[in-house]
Amino acid sequence: MFVLKKRKYTWLDMFRIPFSCAPVSTIVVTLQKVITMLVNVLQVVVVAEFVDSAVAAVMNRTFDRSALTWFIILMLMVSWKRVSYNIGRLFTKHIVIKGNEQFLNECTEKRSRLRYCLLENPDTEELINRITDKLERNISEMLQRFLNFFVIYIPRIAGVLIIIGMHVWWLAIVVTVMTVPLIAVSLRGGKKIYKANETAAVYERRHHYFFDLLTGREAVEERSLFGYSSFVNQQWHNQYDAARKINFKAEAMFTASINAGSILTSVLSSAIVIIMIPLTASGEITVGLFVSLSTAVYDLVNLMGWEMSKAVSQIAKFREYMRDLTQFAALPERQTGMEAADTEDAGIIEFKELEFKHVTFHYPGAETNILQDFSMKIERGQHYAVVGENGAGKSTLIKLLTGLYTDYEGEILLNGRELRSYSPKEWKKVFSGVYQDFARYYISVEDNIQIGNIGTIHEMESKKRMHLLAQKLGIHEAITSLRHRYATRLGKLDADSVDLSGGQWQKVAMARALMNEAPLLILDEPTAALDPISESQLYELFGEISKDRTTIFISHRLGSTKLANHIFVIGDGCIQEQGSHEELLQRGGSYAEMYKAQQSWYVTSEGGA
Ligand code: ADP
Repeated sequence: MFVLKKRKYTWLDMFRIPFSCAPVSTIVVTLQKVITMLVNVLQVVVVAEFVDSAVAAVMNRTFDRSALTWFIILMLMVSWKRVSYNIGRLFTKHIVIKGNEQFLNECTEKRSRLRYCLLENPDTEELINRITDKLERNISEMLQRFLNFFVIYIPRIAGVLIIIGMHVWWLAIVVTVMTVPLIAVSLRGGKKIYKANETAAVYERRHHYFFDLLTGREAVEERSLFGYSSFVNQQWHNQYDAARKINFKAEAMFTASINAGSILTSVLSSAIVIIMIPLTASGEITVGLFVSLSTAVYDLVNLMGWEMSKAVSQIAKFREYMRDLTQFAALPERQTGMEAADTEDAGIIEFKELEFKHVTFHYPGAETNILQDFSMKIERGQHYAVVGENGAGKSTLIKLLTGLYTDYEGEILLNGRELRSYSPKEWKKVFSGVYQDFARYYISVEDNIQIGNIGTIHEMESKKRMHLLAQKLGIHEAITSLRHRYATRLGKLDADSVDLSGGQWQKVAMARALMNEAPLLILDEPTAALDPISESQLYELFGEISKDRTTIFISHRLGSTKLANHIFVIGDGCIQEQGSHEELLQRGGSYAEMYKAQQSWYVTSEGGA
């Protein structure tokens, strides 16, 4: 079982990872390679014996049984290589399937535990993509390259060198010396290719995005409306070209250095074979050995000049890959707080109060404080609204509240205990909500809503609850009129899927949030795309359904804030005003000003208010 751990991954993990995913298959593939390697080395001896006995048979004009025996052994060796290669391929396929499944699973889990600020960071995105992109090919290659190098190439070269050395010692030394520069060049080449891939990945990500824009269903309406295909096509082409050039340049440099190495080894090997001719003539080595060694030396050239260089460069590439994996495994995870409390408490956590005490916060890497010495108190059963201009920090407040960012100064106390000491599982039992960019899941309506049940409601009960919520939110009828009712798949993935209107998607997201029995509900402007009146109506509906819980509505539009018992006005990183709607209007401060400015938006719904 593969387990992604915080440790240093090295080139040895090219074997360890496949082995931990599929041990039996990895052993079978290794054995297949080991036997093939032994066969390859023995083949040098067998060919020599066969040629010598065949030459003797021809010279003596007698049928020689030993020639036939060596020939049969040779044929068996060749057949083994072909048959075992196919068996090896089958088991490698099994390793790839298991490896892909386990590796991806662990990467996804690690990703879900990562700190939120890392998920927002494009570098993390690139890192994860480098690890998981073309994973099937990588798993298959990491084992193959490792085994080829250590089980095939090295022993094969060593075996042939020993045989050569036993007959002509200096020849063995010359061949050994030839390998050193080649290996050095290959190592550098492999590293360069990986680094080039890393640089090209940024352009690749962009050209994939533009390609989706040009061909995907998501943008089909705007594509035909604005007819931007040729503009985007040009953008796509620029990015594609940049990526292609980087990759091609690295590949060309690598090929050039490998070819130089190949030419060098070819010349040297030819010289070696020529040197062996007088040795054969003088009887120092037999004709059979000459034929066999010449073949072996040319084989070595091919092996060292190309295959081995390729394998070494691949190992260098995987060393970089393992470096990425080490970095990924070490990425900090969200603070898990008091894990013990997680397992013990199966129910919802009772909410008493939540207090921000002198909280100061800036985003990682940014200098400006979004919240500055910020204090506010939320009490059980009350309905709050947080208002402020765009960019005032309302969503940031919610991100801190829900534990997405934990690097703040000051304290956020939930029921008197620092929020950071709660585990994510505990947070889920306290908060639920709908955010600005709520997700549209391309799964069934039922699954879309049931995701909100965090395991605290029994299955039968949760179905009833789902229907009730859909009814209250006014989408039950629309859903039951669909072909597969609640089982209808939403989105645009296939012909059977049904896409909803913007408002319906919002209500599905609200039903999801309300499925969770968490005592504190947050509504962070999921209605930004709606007109002010519809937003106000939706907030009213949400408020009515969740009247027994504590709610926080976020908006930069004030039509919905009258529903709240208490309003916080945020500006310049702190609370500028607070109180009820009436109190704030009477005070005549920034709330009253904003309200007046926005009043005309609500004329229709409020009869000229
Ligand atoms: P509001 O919800 O009130 O419109 P936000 O809380 O979304 O405002 O943003 C407050 C400020 O923080 C803005 O200036 C915004 O640009 C900045 N901001 C938001 N998210 C990030 C982020 N991930 N990294 C850096 N700055 C951010």
